Amino acid sequence: MSNSLITGLHHITAMASDPQRNLDFYAGLLGLRLVKKTINFDAPDVYHLYYGDETGKAGSIMTFFPFGASPYRGRQGTGQAATTSFSIPVNALDFWQKRFDQFQVSYKAPQTRFNEVVIYFEDPDGLGLELVANDADTRPPFTYGHIPAEVAIRGFWGSELWETSYEKTEALLTQHLGYEFIGEAGVRRRYLPKSVDSAEKGNEAGNFVDILWDSTQRYGVGGIGTVHHIAFDTPTDETQKGVREILLSKGFMPTEVLDRQYFHSIYFREPGGVLFEIATNPPGFTFDETIENLGTGLKLPPWQEKNRDQIEKHLAPISLEKSVEAYRVG
Ligand code: ZN
Repeated sequence: MSNSLITGLHHITAMASDPQRNLDFYAGLLGLRLVKKTINFDAPDVYHLYYGDETGKAGSIMTFFPFGASPYRGRQGTGQAATTSFSIPVNALDFWQKRFDQFQVSYKAPQTRFNEVVIYFEDPDGLGLELVANDADTRPPFTYGHIPAEVAIRGFWGSELWETSYEKTEALLTQHLGYEFIGEAGVRRRYLPKSVDSAEKGNEAGNFVDILWDSTQRYGVGGIGTVHHIAFDTPTDETQKGVREILLSKGFMPTEVLDRQYFHSIYFREPGGVLFEIATNPPGFTFDETIENLGTGLKLPPWQEKNRDQIEKHLAPISLEKSVEAYRVG
């Protein structure tokens, strides 16, 4: 197939509990920009919070459904996208360890993997995260001013799929989704889109997919503290249609195209059980807010506007200012 149908990662969506605590961690501690505050289109009493770089470019977007005090807890295991990694410059390693110490976030000692230095930590709901220190990432940083720009997170580094075996998922990635195998370390196999050089993003960071295969691992259970799905980036509705036709012809069962307001989406399960989405790059997060106002209003899809009063009454108020202040240094 043409390798321009998929240009890399688009977003990663996970489940959380308390929305303010989620905002505190991702915008406050990690310094990601809240690029959109909306609702779960299928459950309007739950927020859908989007974090990313300044404009919410593909390859930087981490999103959450914070369900509040819900017993619906997940367990990380095979058949899931497990650890999500974020890219930082090498000279930011000290800054982030000190920041974690200061705010009592426990983390594992830095380790080296594929020539990058990696720090593992978890969010307040136990979601696995990493910082990957590298000097290959040329994407511009974003900051609310409480983290120096030179040490700020640049977006994703990549996503890690936990599988019982790698062969079928590798075949999907390399034969139908435009990825190629680029290296392995133990039970970790790494893939990158073939189109990455011509992609607008301009470099590899933000697009890596690793398969960690281990037949002895327990299956994961979806719920709070786990990734719900990962989304790949496709340039247009036309290329999405192309991917969908390929998937159908190969026996996968993609959904119809769903309007997610900021992108159009299809979903399907990959052979190892992870939910994959293919999301269009346009229209993007400036669809209903200017760049400078991204994330400031509660945005509802048009069909829910008539219910705005009721929806706002049921959502716990959250404050970005509070999050940024709580994690301001000095
Ligand atoms: Zn999604």
